[in-house]
Amino acid sequence: MSRIAYVAGQYLPHRQAAVHIEDRGFQFADGVYEVISVVGGRLVDAERHLKRLKRSLGELRIPAPLGDAALGIVLHEVIRRNGVDTGIVYLQVTRGAAPREHAFPKAAKPTLVVTSRRSRPPDPRLGDDGIAVITIPDIRWQRCDIKSVALIANVLGKQQAREKGAYEAWQVDQVGQVTEGTSTNAWIVTCDGAVVTRPADFGILRGITRTVLLDVIAEQGLKFEERPFTMDEAYTAREAFITSATQFVTPVVRLDGRPVGNGAPGLIATALRRDFHDHAEIA
Ligand code: PMP
Repeated sequence: MSRIAYVAGQYLPHRQAAVHIEDRGFQFADGVYEVISVVGGRLVDAERHLKRLKRSLGELRIPAPLGDAALGIVLHEVIRRNGVDTGIVYLQVTRGAAPREHAFPKAAKPTLVVTSRRSRPPDPRLGDDGIAVITIPDIRWQRCDIKSVALIANVLGKQQAREKGAYEAWQVDQVGQVTEGTSTNAWIVTCDGAVVTRPADFGILRGITRTVLLDVIAEQGLKFEERPFTMDEAYTAREAFITSATQFVTPVVRLDGRPVGNGAPGLIATALRRDFHDHAEIA
């Protein structure tokens, strides 16, 4: 089955799918995106993702390319045309194509691109064995709450992690507090059993998985603290884990080469991983 993409109003084979060379996404990273997990051919937490997309668009003053209902139809159609049962849908909206000039163009039509691909469910070994994380300085801009396609700092961070044999890099702000991973939110469990994650301010993306997990934490009756945590706290934490739409809840067992807790996935992270799916909304 050849892969099909939705590009500016048309369903096209990937080889023919293209955007204009003066698209502002290409020229300025002037656009936003979402990645939605597909399970059993259905979208996971689509409503929350589309709400976040709207917010990102609003913050950048990019008009929505389609209404919610039409966008939902396109997402499902791209999944169907690609025969995706388990995988992801990627959607990107840019301010559109216009002669290159930094200020907003007067008459650009936003570009919408939607692709979908199959993937294996997250490798169960990552959940069973846990992952290694390194820490790096957070060199990003001050509006990380916007899901912008300007991901170069995240790209460099993830590459650093790979080169050090780690799965993710936790970014650390100027006062030594962990912000988030390059494509995941960051969590620790303190020695007295409190689950801690940074408030979703301008410094991090409000992950959809993060939001859903807050319900799971409440339901499990766990102690929860929404506050920044430092690297030193992370080094001495009992457990650590990451969350994202594609990784769900994945335990962290090494941080900068040191074992987290006893060096094995923690009980709380494992229980949250197990229960996460009961709370996700499948549409
Ligand atoms: N932070 C960043 C920087 C991300 O790119 C992502 C992935 N979208 C996340 C956190 C996790 O967000 P979500 O749970 O919505 O995938």
